[in-house]
Amino acid sequence: MKTSDDYLALDKQLLWHPYTSMSHPSPHYLVESAAGCSITLSDGRTLIDGMSSWWSVVHGYNHPDMNQAIQTQLTQFSHVMFGGFTHKPAIELAEKLIAMTPNMLQRVFFSDSGSVSVEVALKMAIQYWNTQGKPTKQFFVSPKSGYHGDTFAAMSVCDPDNGMHSLFSHALIQQLFVSPPPAGFNEPINTDYLDEIRTVFEQHHDSIAGFIIEPVVQNAGGMRFYNPEYLNQLRVLCDEFDVLLIFDEIATGFGRTGKPFATDHTTICPDILCLGKALTGGYMTLAATLTNDKVALGISHDGGVFMHGPTFMGNPLACAAANASLTLLDGYDIPEKITQLETWMKNALMPCQQLEQVKDVRCLGGIGVVELKKPVDLQTIQPKFVDLGVWVRPFGKLIYLMPPYIISQEHIQLLGKAIYQVVSEEAI
Ligand code: PMP
Repeated sequence: MKTSDDYLALDKQLLWHPYTSMSHPSPHYLVESAAGCSITLSDGRTLIDGMSSWWSVVHGYNHPDMNQAIQTQLTQFSHVMFGGFTHKPAIELAEKLIAMTPNMLQRVFFSDSGSVSVEVALKMAIQYWNTQGKPTKQFFVSPKSGYHGDTFAAMSVCDPDNGMHSLFSHALIQQLFVSPPPAGFNEPINTDYLDEIRTVFEQHHDSIAGFIIEPVVQNAGGMRFYNPEYLNQLRVLCDEFDVLLIFDEIATGFGRTGKPFATDHTTICPDILCLGKALTGGYMTLAATLTNDKVALGISHDGGVFMHGPTFMGNPLACAAANASLTLLDGYDIPEKITQLETWMKNALMPCQQLEQVKDVRCLGGIGVVELKKPVDLQTIQPKFVDLGVWVRPFGKLIYLMPPYIISQEHIQLLGKAIYQVVSEEAI
């Protein structure tokens, strides 16, 4: 029988993990089980989860309702092709998504992951303009500090400096970039920013199909919060210059910012909306690209078809998980629950503000961020968190929490204490 060490040795030899080297792999921890907000390792240690497994497991691990929904679907069928067949889990999920997102969004395309839902969104925008007799509109504008995924078109609209542009420069489509929206959820609007976008639209609108942005929070590109009013103004500019507005809510959707969707902080509706991560409560991989009738029927004009159709489109197990997750979400009062989480995180993280190593502490909804003055070394900092019994995975200068929504105040306090201790030991 293999021991845990045997498994870990095999892992090192055989498996690629996210953003890691095959010759100098970083340490990985063997997980034995997970329940609620706790992850148990094969050596018996239990970690409090501050990450929701990259922001997806919002109801915690091993939730009986989630397990039951998947098991029930499993006894019926786990997959059928979506070409020629359809099924109740997908239809019910589409109905729910349309009911909970802004009114104008009426059509749903399911895909396998967040990155693919972004590819789908970009293709929708290009195909739409094609049918409108504007085939030159094939490029996208996005703000710097954005992140939209690791596939090629998604990479092309990620931050051109922090992203992977330099590595793939000859293979990537050259898109247009504007500055990131000025930081601060409550900061007043700086009209210079809107002028910058207007100038790009004025010069290039003939070739611009869409503007893609993470609404209210730029996530992996820096955990930056900004005033939602920029999005209201952006909608006006997009309409003026015939540019489709695409919101990537893969990270912010389903309550993370304190409203059901980040879009709900605005008074407008995007033309295309990407959802993923928490869609299935983090139990299965699934994403959705929603759009309005203008785009959907525009693409379909004159016999047109939308040119995308993945093998696992609308996977029934994943749709069943998503339906169960949305039912659970429906049972929470999102604004109340997430405001409480925000207050707990503020109390737990604010002491870090006094540390010499810290540049800024900020919280919005279920996101708590401690920004340091210098980048951390993941290889050395990760084991320190594990030794303190918490799962926190920083990147760059950012140590942050995006815990499951069901986490207790006591667990948030323990996460805060661990972050304070680890940061206080960092070099100044
Ligand atoms: N867009 C945003 C805003 C994201 O945060 C992510 C993932 N972190 C993605 C797209 C890509 O999603 P996935 O990893 O499921 O492909």
